[in-house]
Amino acid sequence: MKNIYFSVRGTSNFSPPQTYLFNKIVETSKNIFKLFGYEEIILPILEEEAVFVRSVGQATDIIEKQMFKVTRNRPDLDSKMQIVLRPEGTAQVIRYYIENSLYKKSDFYKFCYFGPMFRGEKPQKGRLRQFHHIGAEAIGSYSEFLDAEVIFLSLEILDALGIKQKSLHLNSLGCGLDKEKFKELLKKEILPYKDKLCIDCQRRMEKNPLRIFDCKEENCQSICEKFSSITSQQYLCKTCHSHFKNLVDILKDNFGIQPFVDFRLVRGLDYYTNTIFEINSPFLGSQNALGGGGRYNNLVEELGGPKVGAVGFALGLERIMLLLEKIDILKTIDVFIATTNDTLIKEAVKLLISLRKENISSDIDYCKKSLKGQLRYAEKKNVNFVIILGEEELKENKVILKDMKRSLQEKVNIDNIIPLLKSKLKNV
Ligand code: AMP
Repeated sequence: MKNIYFSVRGTSNFSPPQTYLFNKIVETSKNIFKLFGYEEIILPILEEEAVFVRSVGQATDIIEKQMFKVTRNRPDLDSKMQIVLRPEGTAQVIRYYIENSLYKKSDFYKFCYFGPMFRGEKPQKGRLRQFHHIGAEAIGSYSEFLDAEVIFLSLEILDALGIKQKSLHLNSLGCGLDKEKFKELLKKEILPYKDKLCIDCQRRMEKNPLRIFDCKEENCQSICEKFSSITSQQYLCKTCHSHFKNLVDILKDNFGIQPFVDFRLVRGLDYYTNTIFEINSPFLGSQNALGGGGRYNNLVEELGGPKVGAVGFALGLERIMLLLEKIDILKTIDVFIATTNDTLIKEAVKLLISLRKENISSDIDYCKKSLKGQLRYAEKKNVNFVIILGEEELKENKVILKDMKRSLQEKVNIDNIIPLLKSKLKNV
């Protein structure tokens, strides 16, 4: 027996009908991005490590222990630059924006992107090492209306995909100064409990105490509970306070969204300032975040560009898939052509070619299955219609059209089958 090989832990192999679902999610998102004026960019999977260290922040899990570093078989040819598989998109989009001096060409950009991200997390349901982000970044404005649009956009994509039940958690971390004040106070308050925190949080305490709020360890959570009265909101300066208040009003008044203002939400990446948000699903168990995002008004400058405001989000494609797999929308073709006898395959192929020419997705049997076997296969493929070619009917220039969803069938003149299918498919 030869050795067989297995997928790398935490990666997925998608096959139909999952690939169908995957593409549907991307296509739906693309249509909505277009409606909102976001332009697609396709950036590399390989990126310089420093891009993320400088933006996401040293004291985050992503940087401390989750990045996949890339080495070559010819290390002697590699420069000193450390290359990683990108763990997220925001920092990379900003690297691209600065590298190409886009700010000199226009003062405002709206980008969207799709693609794999890599994080060395402990794999579990909804938590992978290679997963996909659907992301958007709007660069060049501090307007609360833009925050509201970005939040609304992420919810619209989920809505269009049929994900109705979800909650929007919203908070503000304030500007860099507000955030520093908040962090300092937290550090001081938590210090007496340092020994009771997990090893990771003890380290986080120094550089990024906000991360402690995201820790799943019971001990750390109960220590955080003690400080539930300390929130970032108390440290907002006047400008940041009014930005947040205006945003909540705009969401309610202009977009009809009632956010859950969640003072516990911290999203501990270094680059966030002001608005932060997360969208959760009640059906996903412990990995319940469908997506999240926020403002990052200092990141462009931090990575060497000008001082411009920016806001964005990323949705997790696999988590959306987990939800949609439960909804019966999986279908690869609309029409299956079955024959009562495999000698009729030439007739079937003739019809198949004319259906496909008319853009009707269709297929036939290539395995000489019995009629019963073909119908079972069509049912498994979740097709809407089966056309049955039978010797007797063909003599009259007719075929049988079977509506699989309604369990109805009728004899149809073969010359009418295409217009009839087209009008029926409009209503499925
Ligand atoms: P984040 O950049 O961590 O806020 O990620 C945005 C979204 O991507 C999350 O809300 C998840 O839906 C998804 N996501 C993040 N990490 C993973 C992962 N390891 N596996 C699968 N999906 C993920």
